[in-house]
Amino acid sequence: MKIDMHTHIIPRELPDWSSEFGYGNFIHLDHHRPGFARMMQGGKFFREIESNCWDAQLRIDEYARFHTQVQIVCTIPVLFAYWSKPKDGLKVAQFLNDHIATLIHSYPKNYVGLGTLPMQDIALAVEELQRCKNIGLKGVQIGSNINNINLSDAQFNPLWEALQDLDMCILIHPWEMMGEEDMRKYWLPWLVGMPAETTRAICSLIFNGVFERYPRIRFNFAHAGGSFLTTIGRIEHGFHCRPDLVAIDNPKNPRDYIGHFWVDSATHDAQLLRYILELLPPEKISLGTDYPFPLGDLKVGEFIRDMKLAPEVQEQIFWKSAVAWLGMTPTEFTQQYFS
Ligand SMILES: [Zn+2]
Repeated sequence: MKIDMHTHIIPRELPDWSSEFGYGNFIHLDHHRPGFARMMQGGKFFREIESNCWDAQLRIDEYARFHTQVQIVCTIPVLFAYWSKPKDGLKVAQFLNDHIATLIHSYPKNYVGLGTLPMQDIALAVEELQRCKNIGLKGVQIGSNINNINLSDAQFNPLWEALQDLDMCILIHPWEMMGEEDMRKYWLPWLVGMPAETTRAICSLIFNGVFERYPRIRFNFAHAGGSFLTTIGRIEHGFHCRPDLVAIDNPKNPRDYIGHFWVDSATHDAQLLRYILELLPPEKISLGTDYPFPLGDLKVGEFIRDMKLAPEVQEQIFWKSAVAWLGMTPTEFTQQYFS
């Protein structure tokens, strides 16, 4: 039994937002041959995707091969559109969130939904978060920075308050990678920028005291927390040797927050996952693949099964950790999805 808590989905058809709003390179899809579509940013080719990006039944069938019944889905970060005017960003978010709401109601045993928010306007984001709750979504996914503003910025406090009040979970996903312009060659934004982005987000939330002030928010960080866990020694050392730079807003050692938040299992490396298991309890490591993209763990945790972990540890990672992150008990989840 497995739940994949980090997977992306997109509606098969997207509105022509650039024409509707009269500006910007909003994503649209060019279905140029059966089973494939080009994601276009205005006139510029971004990436080719396959029908498992939008075909709900095909996805269920592909997952069945890996004994995985439930997918926790969210949008593709390139659709965040935080750069757009707030009212347009809200419209984009509502369209994507309504699509996911329809999906989870059509396939109630297979899909759990996370929304997206117009983070460029925190009041609208909080309103949309409330609406996400009303339409049945369990949480949201946001980027690792918002138009280059770190998540430590006080403007985001209303979101943290609302997440805690509404008891919704949050996935932090790297996007708008730092240094992207300087390192386009060799896919470096994805290979180097993304792990750094996630570390940027975790450190910002630790050093600003967000985890401290909003202790009940259930955060999960993509790609096993980026490079945070592998560089925690350096981060902790920096905290001790230059508290005048690091510990100015929160006096607590960053290492103390290990185990406070969840990370997904997408390491592509059994040895690294074993190391993470030494740092974190298995209750805070949730199977997450980044399906259906090529950098994802597209065999849905087979490398974890091959690690021959203790059965209770494997069970935690394969589904129970994700259930706890959603804010449900195993019994509640089993009755709703596995009955
Ligand atoms: Zn992802």
